[in-house]
Amino acid sequence: MSEDFKKYICKTCGLIYDEELGDPDSGLAPGTRFEDIPDDWYCPLCLVSKSDFIPLDEAKAKSSPDGAPKRKASTHADVLIIGAGYAGWQAAENVRQAMPDAEISLLTACDGTVYPKPSLSMALSQGRTPDDLKEMTAEAKAAELNMGVKTRTKVMSINTKRKKVMTTSGSFQYDKLILATGAKALSPTVDGNAAQDIMTINDLPDYRRFHKALEGKKSVTLIGGGLIATELAEDLSSQDIEVNMVVRGAHLMSQILPQAISQSLEEKLQSKGVKLYKNSELVDMNQAENGYRLNTDQGEYIETGVVVAAIGLAPNLELAKKAKLETNRGICINGACQTSDPDIFAIGDCAEAGGVLQAYLEPIRRQAKAIAAHLKGEDTDQFQVLPSLIKTKTPSLPIMISPPLHATHGQWEQTMMVGDNQRLLYKEGEDVSGFALSGDLVTSANALYQELFSA
Ligand SMILES: Cc1cc2nc3c(=O)[nH]c(=O)nc-3n(C[C@H](O)[C@H](O)[C@H](O)COP(=O)(O)OP(=O)(O)OC[C@H]3O[C@@H](n4cnc5c(N)ncnc54)[C@H](O)[C@@H]3O)c2cc1C
Repeated sequence: MSEDFKKYICKTCGLIYDEELGDPDSGLAPGTRFEDIPDDWYCPLCLVSKSDFIPLDEAKAKSSPDGAPKRKASTHADVLIIGAGYAGWQAAENVRQAMPDAEISLLTACDGTVYPKPSLSMALSQGRTPDDLKEMTAEAKAAELNMGVKTRTKVMSINTKRKKVMTTSGSFQYDKLILATGAKALSPTVDGNAAQDIMTINDLPDYRRFHKALEGKKSVTLIGGGLIATELAEDLSSQDIEVNMVVRGAHLMSQILPQAISQSLEEKLQSKGVKLYKNSELVDMNQAENGYRLNTDQGEYIETGVVVAAIGLAPNLELAKKAKLETNRGICINGACQTSDPDIFAIGDCAEAGGVLQAYLEPIRRQAKAIAAHLKGEDTDQFQVLPSLIKTKTPSLPIMISPPLHATHGQWEQTMMVGDNQRLLYKEGEDVSGFALSGDLVTSANALYQELFSA
């Protein structure tokens, strides 16, 4: 008998909590009403609190065009933000809270739409279209924060002496500048007359193109075997789309997941029809009658409708490099998220702290808080690099991982295995610097994380 169960959505990452299904992975039995969830429960995907969830119907209503009044970006801002991804908007929210009277402006190359990026690898199974993912226009978000915004404006260079940025729509002065320019998705270099048709998915416009390309297609080939490629394989196979994965490594998510858990996941995906081409690289891609013909370096031949590369990200460093800020793989930041120029901060996928790149939402929230605290003069060194706690969007096999922060000579050690329920610890001598849990054991992830990494 239907009991009129409701659905709630996380405003930050787009995870949907369905009362009927509960969330057994975080200990909530099917049928648990949202109001009965303890207040200290957090979103299993992006770790925000219960208060960040809203009823799904409300989210749909909010995503309709809102015609908010435009407030122009000031040509002389106290705080100027470049980029309108999660990092840019988090910076804006936190700075506004810390500095109610500051003149804040945001410039962005895209249209600035607010949307939950993690949904891009689970939207098909959620039954959400690209339009459903739009939460708010940039103008509405800026009006909410009482700040200026200029969209479709690319920043070309920064004059650090004059504290000025040059853009495709004129120049803007700043007192403090925050770089939130994200990262670009990498694409493999391959031969063939259709190589330019390889798609990547790193923002809503990419996703819209991919969604359109899927129309009428029965198969997709994913290049890559990392977290995003694996999540996309799950999402696509839930729609009866034939999925091929060309994976350079010996197993899925080989950079963050031990082979024992990868193997269980691979079996689940294969039973859903996902074809894995491991230890393999795409070498050429040519037009075919109903899509493309692919060849790998292992002599494999694949016919497919759509090709998507998910082989990693490269932080956007061009602006920082031109401005002679210190860069490594990302823009180097200290505990206040300052770059080598104390008036310029960096946050999100473009930033590197303590030699570590972490392209996840949780550190972005702490970076935004650290920048705001510093600007307010409260705390100068708030941001610390902490191990990530990652829930993979792989419903075939629940997995939670906290990978080691630095590549080391340690190794994975299995401490429990009962069917699909596995626990492995990453050990360097006696020190544990990471863990991976699968199956029912994911419910213990938070407690294990606290035990291992909380001071
Ligand atoms: C498919 C997918 C699934 C994910 N799932 C998860 C998950 O489950 N959990 C999790 O924690 N994280 C997840 N992530 C990662 C997370 O979404 C990112 O870490 C985060 O959204 C990055 O935000 P950002 O603002 O740093 O970068 P972006 O979102 O890339 O924003 C960069 C912004 O900078 C602007 N810009 C760049 N250069 C310029 C310029 N020169 N001038 C003006 N503007 C410029 C761009 O237009 C854009 O607005 C996922 C990512 C993807 C792609």
